[in-house]
Amino acid sequence: MNVNQSAPPVPPFGQPQPIYPGYHQSNYSGQPGSAAPPASYGAYNGPVPGYQQTPPLGVSRAPPSSGAPPSSTAQAPCGQAAYGQFGQGDIQNGPSSSTVPMQRLPGSQPFGSPLAPAVSQPAAVLQPYGPPPTSAQVTAQLAGMQISGAMAPAPPPSGLGYGPPTSMASASGSFPNSGLYGSYPQGQAPPVSQAQGHPGIQPPQRSAPPLASSFTPPTSGGPRMPSMTGSLPPGQGFGGPPMNQPNHVSSPPQALPPGTQMTGLQGPPPPMHSPQQPGYQLQQNGSFGPGRGPQPNYGSPYPGAPTFSSQPGPPQPLPPKRLDPDAIPSPIQVIEDDRNNRGSEPFVTGVRGQVPPLVTTNFLVKDQGNASPRYIRCTSYNIPCTSDMAKQAQVPLAAVIKPLAMLPPEEASPYVVDHGESGPLRCNRCKAYMCPFMQFIEGGRRFQCCFCSCINDVPPQYFQHLDHTGRRVDAHDRPELSLGSYEFLATVDYCKNNKFPSPPAFIFMIDVSYNAIRTGLVRLLCEELKSLLDYLPREGGAEESAINVGFVTYNKVLHFYNVKSSLAQPQMMVVSDVADMFVPLLDGFLVNVNESRAVITSLLDQIPEIFADTRETETVFAPVIQAGMEALKAAECAGKLFVFHTSLPIAEAPGKLKNRDDRKLINTDKEKTLFQPQTSVYQTLAKECVAQGCCVDLFLFPNQYVDVATLSVVPQLTGGSIYKYACFQVENDQERFLSDLRRDVQKVVGFDAVMRVRTSTGIRAVDFFGAFYMSNTTDVELAGLDANKTVTVEFKHDDRLNEESGALLQCALLYTSCAGQRRLRIHNLALNCCTQLADLYRNCETDTLINYMAKFAYRGILNSPVKTVRDTLITQCAQILACYRKNCASPSSAGQLILPECMKLLPVYLNCVLKSDVLHPGAEVTTDDRAYARQLVTSMDVAETNVFFYPRLLPLTKSPIESTTEPPAVRASEERLSNGDIYLLENGLNLFVWVGASVQQGVVQSLFNVASFSQITSGLSVLPVLDNPLSKKVRGLIDSLRAQRSRYMKLIVVKQEDKMEMMFKNFLVEDNSLSGGESYVDFLCHMHKEIRQLLS
Ligand SMILES: [Zn+2]
Repeated sequence: MNVNQSAPPVPPFGQPQPIYPGYHQSNYSGQPGSAAPPASYGAYNGPVPGYQQTPPLGVSRAPPSSGAPPSSTAQAPCGQAAYGQFGQGDIQNGPSSSTVPMQRLPGSQPFGSPLAPAVSQPAAVLQPYGPPPTSAQVTAQLAGMQISGAMAPAPPPSGLGYGPPTSMASASGSFPNSGLYGSYPQGQAPPVSQAQGHPGIQPPQRSAPPLASSFTPPTSGGPRMPSMTGSLPPGQGFGGPPMNQPNHVSSPPQALPPGTQMTGLQGPPPPMHSPQQPGYQLQQNGSFGPGRGPQPNYGSPYPGAPTFSSQPGPPQPLPPKRLDPDAIPSPIQVIEDDRNNRGSEPFVTGVRGQVPPLVTTNFLVKDQGNASPRYIRCTSYNIPCTSDMAKQAQVPLAAVIKPLAMLPPEEASPYVVDHGESGPLRCNRCKAYMCPFMQFIEGGRRFQCCFCSCINDVPPQYFQHLDHTGRRVDAHDRPELSLGSYEFLATVDYCKNNKFPSPPAFIFMIDVSYNAIRTGLVRLLCEELKSLLDYLPREGGAEESAINVGFVTYNKVLHFYNVKSSLAQPQMMVVSDVADMFVPLLDGFLVNVNESRAVITSLLDQIPEIFADTRETETVFAPVIQAGMEALKAAECAGKLFVFHTSLPIAEAPGKLKNRDDRKLINTDKEKTLFQPQTSVYQTLAKECVAQGCCVDLFLFPNQYVDVATLSVVPQLTGGSIYKYACFQVENDQERFLSDLRRDVQKVVGFDAVMRVRTSTGIRAVDFFGAFYMSNTTDVELAGLDANKTVTVEFKHDDRLNEESGALLQCALLYTSCAGQRRLRIHNLALNCCTQLADLYRNCETDTLINYMAKFAYRGILNSPVKTVRDTLITQCAQILACYRKNCASPSSAGQLILPECMKLLPVYLNCVLKSDVLHPGAEVTTDDRAYARQLVTSMDVAETNVFFYPRLLPLTKSPIESTTEPPAVRASEERLSNGDIYLLENGLNLFVWVGASVQQGVVQSLFNVASFSQITSGLSVLPVLDNPLSKKVRGLIDSLRAQRSRYMKLIVVKQEDKMEMMFKNFLVEDNSLSGGESYVDFLCHMHKEIRQLLS
């Protein structure tokens, strides 16, 4: 773990910095007082009357079986929780006023995030203009094209005709017109400089630039977004440096589908292409066609593929051509370009509707009135004004919101605003919170709500004069008037039962059945907890965590432990009546770690001994959660349960499950039942947990089917996390489990939370995706919400929007901090609105679209056959692209595939979603694996879904050893692998090192400490620690990748041509998959066919 002690920037406000628990402790060895020898079972004295004190030892039980639960057929599915009801409810985050004084926690604490630091890479800066080329079209002719030897007539040079954007238009990032490509050669400053003219903090609403649609194309009927190839004038360079990928070996290119002919690009070539950089410039500019061959002139055909034109003509009897994978849009190229174009200057949020840099770009954010993209990312930053337009385009309007996201240390965390006993100022009608978009009028005595237009009085204590521009003179001194994100201290009116909350509690609930003991899990866990308990989340520089802890062990019965500090030894109380769970002790169950340290240590020493000889293989599950929840209820606090569980709960108890796994259901209409919970018990239980603010994190250690779909219901609905370690063995899985556990226990988490997303008139939030519960149609209830959890919100029109006022979002999260402080975190974001479809397509973000579409599809399989869900995705994607083609692209042959620049990766990424294990499982993928992946994706942010669906493949031996930067990635395809090199692949959950069969012996020796390729152990999970530059570099890279991800990635070494290589190849997502998933090239042809059908 990384320790970051750097202080945040000095806050410009007279407010304290927000109180963040920093992870200052970097290791937890040497914990004192843990050396007590394990006591015998007899130490657990003091039975409570009425409770059976059952020593597990000597209990006569059947010999341990393998633990296999009885098999049975699938049970009738239960309905999903009540999501998806739309409408405006009345429930708010809290009342609008208050009379109770607020307490404030002392001081602030420097922000640090050593667990998942973004600090491993240098701070990036970005260009305030946004990438120059975001709207050039991607063109290609994939199918049905006629090929001729003649130069194609260039489309109207409309890109040129647009000329440089006027004044601030480009600042919005909203119309990097294709003309810009030609206009701003690399390294040359864009002609417009006013984009930066927002040094001060201004409400974006006022400082918003003119809408992109306001400038005029040269010819009225001309295309607004002409194809790249048509718009590039001779002699003009490209916006970004050409990128080459020298790292791949060519392998036989894929053949086109029948009836498809390879065609070249249309239009005059950009002359800066050089023969040394085959092919890539095309992608660079969003166009694709044949990549190989003479570049300086597209007119010069590469062998066998003459320049194509859009002129209709009889098909020529050419042999089937191959589509060069280099000629289709490359994710690597797009990522590289964005890094180069936008990674060098901060992203300043003062301008409405700016598309932020990609999630794969490192950049700093300056909050000047809109929430940072680390908190909110949108599928589009320019929303169609009417629902008709939105329906026509089919582009989902969604925001991916991560309310408690960790920020890099260089960025200021949200300031905490304390309005004292009056509480936060809100609109009387819609209850929106004070924000930079509110309009003060009548000399400052009133303000007009930017969401509902209601005129509100300004309370006397909040009154301030306005300056000559109508701004309050104190706007710069108040976060809520100048920033996109900030927090309010909540008054008692925002608290349950009008009482300030108690600090939360953590309860550790440990399965001690035969399997848990046998694998060494219980011993490992207890040993770890002894030190880990010193690292519970803290706040405000507090000496110790305010969180109390409790312990339960269980198999068929539950064992509660009294660890009161005054006891000499812990006491155990057994509850065997699991049908009617209750908590047998209140005093001494939840304790302060420091006060009870000796007793807790003694308990953790004894637990593995007590159950060492257990024969019990059966477990219960629902009663365990019930018990934890009841304990929190009794203590009148929120909290989190950490449940460590090994098997299908088949013991007689509520929530008992049977093995209903049935692979025969795959690809049938009943496949959905595999993902539905097999009983409603867990939904009911989850609801009770949410009401109590009881979040459940589940660690699973299954040897076989455990019905993840059912067991995950409670974690899913309570905002918890699930971790799965199949066939857990201490030797192999210890590092991964302990790393995950440490992060999970220490991470910042809010409790008992309610999130509400308000919007300005015209759109509203209609659907929500993530780990939470909803009892009405508007309030997202989260028993717990940690820094990694993301909620995706979809919006629909309910009225007409207008270009002038744009559209506003306000996300308000009411939560209890880990010190027990009630707070409101507010994020505001202003978007542009457009009357031209082209503006929509210029301001989309494909990574966010994919995040939404994956979540939409993964939820859809609960109710529809998987094939239907896949077809729906394909159709929607085709409609999006067809609408663009029809309304925004320059007229051209139907044989030409034209993609909007911002969406040129939509096909490749969507294909990755379609062929993912959840939607297209291979034979080796279990039902539990699928249910698990489904749950994980539900809460992922955009960066996580991006790398999860399109893994990162890094060559390890290409770049010089001295190079300190991360090697440039290559495309996820087998043909990019050279058998003389070693590669690293990661997708956020898995990490592979692939070794080519012809790697030099010296390299093998340096990395694996063996003499030859054949001696490398396949499946190795640790690289030997060797004292040479290559070994250090590779291990350092692995460490850095692991630090970037929210879960520990287990390493697997895979050798070329080895059996295990199949597993690895599954992640080469541009290729055909073993399960029948299409290659990128095939899918692109498929998509093109769909689009043509829609257009004809
Ligand atoms: Zn309002």
